[in-house]
Amino acid sequence: MGILIVDDSEHVHTQLRFFLTSSGYQKLTFAESAAEAYACLEIDSPQPAADKFDLILMDIMMPDIDGIEACRRIKKCADFKDIPIIMVTGKTDIEYLQIAFSEGAVDYITKPINKVELLARVRSVLRLKHEIDHRKSREKELIEVTRQLEAANQMLLQLSFSDALTGVANRRSFEKIYSKEWGRVARHSRPISLIMIDIDYFKLYNDTYGHPQGDVCLKQVAKALRDALKRPGDVVARYGGEEFVIVLPDTDTEGACQIAESIRVNIDTLRLEFKESLASNQVTVSMGISTTVPDINTLSDSLINSADKALYQAKSEGRNRVKISQDNVT
Ligand code: GH3
Ligand code: MG
Ligand code: MG
Repeated sequence: MGILIVDDSEHVHTQLRFFLTSSGYQKLTFAESAAEAYACLEIDSPQPAADKFDLILMDIMMPDIDGIEACRRIKKCADFKDIPIIMVTGKTDIEYLQIAFSEGAVDYITKPINKVELLARVRSVLRLKHEIDHRKSREKELIEVTRQLEAANQMLLQLSFSDALTGVANRRSFEKIYSKEWGRVARHSRPISLIMIDIDYFKLYNDTYGHPQGDVCLKQVAKALRDALKRPGDVVARYGGEEFVIVLPDTDTEGACQIAESIRVNIDTLRLEFKESLASNQVTVSMGISTTVPDINTLSDSLINSADKALYQAKSEGRNRVKISQDNVT
């Protein structure tokens, strides 16, 4: 509990040291002038010594810089905003107290110093200071806890929209994004395409290489799909099991076919061995593409159904291929 005593009188220093140390206040710093007090407080440094002191006892009458000017200078520094200053006044300078209070002093004691009065004032001011410190540290803790909660919420939100295994958007997230994009393109009479993608003979893959390797395969396929997308609005989602869907707003059939070709190249590059597959000797996918320019009466499900039908056709024609829906989606 540091107390800074600023007084040009040696006698006052002795007296205060005696009164305060005998009452348990051991951390005392003495300054004989305002300039010396500024040095103790390191007031001009980038990090003033605000933590070193809990209280300043300030004489009003001092040569050069008086106590009122010192009080003003100290309170001007934001770091010392919460350090209380008690003015020490002679009988003759009591008229200056009003100014001292307006400059930020909280209390005063008169000379000759009365021990009981001094200790009563010091104690009550220090109690207030500690309450303020306590409240400030609680506030800091609360701000930190709030920040952590917000970060956790953000992460939960992120998790609730992404698929745990592959990290791409989950089905729920797809529904949301798709319906929003659908509404947008319908309002602007713009095309929208869907690509439904399904891994070929994936049950056989699991049966042959084991479920954990099946999971590795799913993750790599998901990454290959994500890497094929070019625009920020394009989204890949896990539609279920080993089936994925890609939403391509503002994209016509030709654009969707280009993405499908990138996907085929990316998956081919993975070189995931699958000798037992009837479609190839490595992992392959089948894809169904459907495109429409919806109006406000078109049902968004109809595009999903037609892409699904095209995918089914790709499967029935031998898998490892892309089929474009010929349906007229209305
Ligand atoms: P098709 O070429 O006709 O698509 O045949 P398929 O075997 O891929 O299709 P089917 O629907 O019969 O099998 C899908 C398999 O996908 C069965 C299921 O165990 C597997 N599967 C679904 N989700 C996961 C998963 O999260 N991890 C793993 N390892 N396998 C999964
Ligand atoms: Mg499959
Ligand atoms: Mg399937």
